[in-house]
Amino acid sequence: MALETPDQVLVTRLDALANWCRTHSLWPMPFATACCGIELMATGASRHDLARFGAEAMRFSPRQSDLMIVAGRVVMKMLPVLQRIWQQMSEPKWCISMGACASTGGVFDTYAVVQGIDRFLPVDMYVPGCPPRPEQLIQAILDLQDKITREGTVAGREFERRAPVRALQELPILGQTSAIRARGVRA
Ligand code: SF4
Repeated sequence: MALETPDQVLVTRLDALANWCRTHSLWPMPFATACCGIELMATGASRHDLARFGAEAMRFSPRQSDLMIVAGRVVMKMLPVLQRIWQQMSEPKWCISMGACASTGGVFDTYAVVQGIDRFLPVDMYVPGCPPRPEQLIQAILDLQDKITREGTVAGREFERRAPVRALQELPILGQTSAIRARGVRA
């Protein structure tokens, strides 16, 4: 026998409700270092209007953001800053790697440039191109929203699969030797 629900009562799962809220309230943290950053700005501007997809509230405060968008090449000196911002962002959080440089180092095959940020950050979506078009970034955000809807859990179990990110202490910090870092003392 079918169970009738009263009018104006909606039954759903808590996970589904939380994911619906998360999906439509992404707050990006832009980490734009080079030419890809211009396309990121264009994505938020009037022609492409990222606001249509509920992800236009760019914040330069990591504690208010839950979507890191890395647009452009990242050099080794900058990596500790990137990781620190990532660690300061609130959970649950996601990461989009925008462009060839962020994803692979691009044409900068050199020791000074990170050859893919996914060596140090858990990346959810990769956007190919040099630079990618704003439409590609929007598609990545739509795909990420779909992923959050499908895989998100209130308990955050979807994050347990992620590869462990290298500890901040392991990263090179300008002016510090590993022995000094181990003691927590700045040179
Ligand atoms: S992928 Fe191309 S456009 Fe983007 S930062 Fe690298 S060189 Fe610039």
